[in-house]
Amino acid sequence: MSKKLFQKSTENLRKAVPLMIKNQVPTTPTNYALWYTYVDNSLPQMNKELDQAITDYGMCPPATGETLYRTYVASKTETDIRQLRSSLELLLNEVSHSMTDTLADTQDFQQMIDKNFDCLSRVEDEGLSFEEVMELVRGLISESKEIRHSTRFLNNQLNTASSEVERLKKQLEQVQKDALYDSLSSLLNRRALDNDLVSLCATEQPFSFILVDIDHFKKFNDEYGHLFGDSVIKAIARRLQLSCRDGITAYRFGGEEFALVVPGKNLRVARQLAESIRRAIEKVSVKDKRSNRQVDHITASFGVAEYSAKESASSLIDKADKQLYEAKRLGRNRVLPMSV
Ligand code: GH3
Ligand code: MG
Ligand code: MG
Repeated sequence: MSKKLFQKSTENLRKAVPLMIKNQVPTTPTNYALWYTYVDNSLPQMNKELDQAITDYGMCPPATGETLYRTYVASKTETDIRQLRSSLELLLNEVSHSMTDTLADTQDFQQMIDKNFDCLSRVEDEGLSFEEVMELVRGLISESKEIRHSTRFLNNQLNTASSEVERLKKQLEQVQKDALYDSLSSLLNRRALDNDLVSLCATEQPFSFILVDIDHFKKFNDEYGHLFGDSVIKAIARRLQLSCRDGITAYRFGGEEFALVVPGKNLRVARQLAESIRRAIEKVSVKDKRSNRQVDHITASFGVAEYSAKESASSLIDKADKQLYEAKRLGRNRVLPMSV
């Protein structure tokens, strides 16, 4: 690294750290990379989005930081699951090649033994000289040395490969455990929500929370099959993602349940937002590939709650859940509380 580059990077780091502290960003390697890129000002679009998140939330929610990191920083540098998977594939390929090689060697060896046996029988039939017999034996020894070498090589390679596979498997498990995205819906997952709620509650900034539960979802699974049920979850997730303007973040809460975090908005505004999403979901229709029919009687119920100062994340979820329960009890396809 040139001296100038070194100076610039220490300078960036010196600027990044106080910003991270100010925005309550945990000092993880991911966050260092994100904030380093931020002060470096090399990706204006990323800076814009990060600034917007800070305006919306008064801090940088962990899942937003992670998403920005993935979109702008990680794509260039990080080893992600895909890379891990291709390393595993490469490794398996390599092993299978050397297995094929050894197999070929073994077949050569077999042919060589056959050939030598033929010669040995000639010893009796044709009375070969001592020198000629020795020549045959020497050939046999040298070729068996070769095959032993190649088997040992394969053995070593298999040992290295299996410990490498073990290491990659552990890494893959860890990456999956740390994952913040739900693979079916592509929304942030429950872990991301829990992280974000804890961070948001700590800032004591106003925000609201919405729980969404698809009505009689079990019926879709039962009538059209589990895969169709999955398509309904995906379609609703897409619809919710479309509503994510003004810093709103959507999560898959679990099963057929979703959550929305609405920064800086009180119960009344969050309720209105839920109401408009409820109406939008009524218009969603999903095609059943088996019967080629369009299914369009999908509805959802909503429970809305506003964060009150000093409240814990679980108490906030509980409040929204009670409202959701009430929405179900009153007949579904509605937003509770009814008015504020
Ligand atoms: P309610 O209106 O009271 O919410 O009724 P419901 O049928 O939607 O609720 P219930 O909790 O009885 O059933 C939810 C069903 O969702 C049960 C479960 O098998 C199904 N489910 C959960 N996760 C998934 C998923 O990822 N894919 C599919 N296809 N089904 C799922
Ligand atoms: Mg449910
Ligand atoms: Mg349901």
